[in-house]
Amino acid sequence: MTMTTIDRRKTREVSVGNVAIGGDNSIRIQSMTSVPTKNVTGNVEQICELVECGCEIVRLAVTTVDDVKSLAEIKNVLHRRGTTVPVVADVHFSPMIATNCLMTADKVRINAGNFSDKLFGAKEFSEDKFVAGKRRLQEKLEVFFAAAKAAGKPIRIGINSGSLAPRVTCKFGHGDEAMWESAKECLEAAEQVKFGDLVLSFKASDVGKMVSANRLACAQMDQYGWNFPIHLGVTESGNGDSGRIKSAIGIGTLLMAGIGDTIRVSLTENPVNEIGVAKDILQACGINRHCVEIISCPSCGRTTFDIQLVLDVVKSELGKLKNFERLKVAVMGCAINGLGEAGDADLAIVGNPNGSLSIYGGGKCIARGVAVKDLHRDFLKKIHKFQK
Ligand code: SF4
Repeated sequence: MTMTTIDRRKTREVSVGNVAIGGDNSIRIQSMTSVPTKNVTGNVEQICELVECGCEIVRLAVTTVDDVKSLAEIKNVLHRRGTTVPVVADVHFSPMIATNCLMTADKVRINAGNFSDKLFGAKEFSEDKFVAGKRRLQEKLEVFFAAAKAAGKPIRIGINSGSLAPRVTCKFGHGDEAMWESAKECLEAAEQVKFGDLVLSFKASDVGKMVSANRLACAQMDQYGWNFPIHLGVTESGNGDSGRIKSAIGIGTLLMAGIGDTIRVSLTENPVNEIGVAKDILQACGINRHCVEIISCPSCGRTTFDIQLVLDVVKSELGKLKNFERLKVAVMGCAINGLGEAGDADLAIVGNPNGSLSIYGGGKCIARGVAVKDLHRDFLKKIHKFQK
């Protein structure tokens, strides 16, 4: 089958524990636990479940000094259970806690907007106050980045449109430019101490803003010669279909434009659900194919068999197969449009007017008049012949 070629933005490789982000590495799938970090057992269980589903990097909220200790305990238990997934500490407001996490976490994620600036209080900033605030932030970041460099740990700088420093929003507003200026302050500080193990994220709950912020940031970074990997995500996207659609549009649009090295689908659901959606986004973009690509028509009055049932059976059977990622299978209600529409599929199951099915492989009919109940015998048991 033909696949869309994506010209991926060249980024440097940043190692997070035993998983590398950026460079030629696959787009990494991340998630975050939803239980308090002090609940060591709950976190270990959730992390193991996430890893089982395909999560490659897991993040935990670290809010107190006690959480730093719990993080160490969680990592120890994971190691004893043979789970080596990289664990990232998510820290807001406290350079001290972020620095403490460098000893334990595989990466630390900070928020540029609240690392040293206060989010509440002053609503107006003179240029002098702006410069002083920027200097204060950069001094703290230089110390933190130097510590990260000494510890050999990477840092993600999170830029969230909803939590930019007030001095930044007063000067630059709440859009792309403000998000980029906030990132630039951090990158200048990193450059001062020659620290380059950085990943950046530009997130917003508004999909359009998230997309344009990432585009602007990458264009700017290219000009400065900064090739840091990008972590993609739409924040506060909600749950259910709407949450999935927002993430798919935001993350998918950027991936198709070659932007993005790691993704997190944020859902107000069990985080395990995020992993399947992330995989589906990568699959739909033609990246990191993880299973057989299955296409199907919506069916219409020409369909003479239970296409929903057949699709469910085909999906569940083919979904179990490993090493079939390059195969594309079509399930089509009829031959009128079905054969043409399924033209670039390797295999096609097509309905006949009498309610039976025909199976096509490589454009030729390989089985005719197959009853739906015989699908296992005539198609699914023979699928191994078609492995690519
Ligand atoms: S492939 Fe056939 S059954 Fe399916 S929607 Fe098109 S015309 Fe209808």
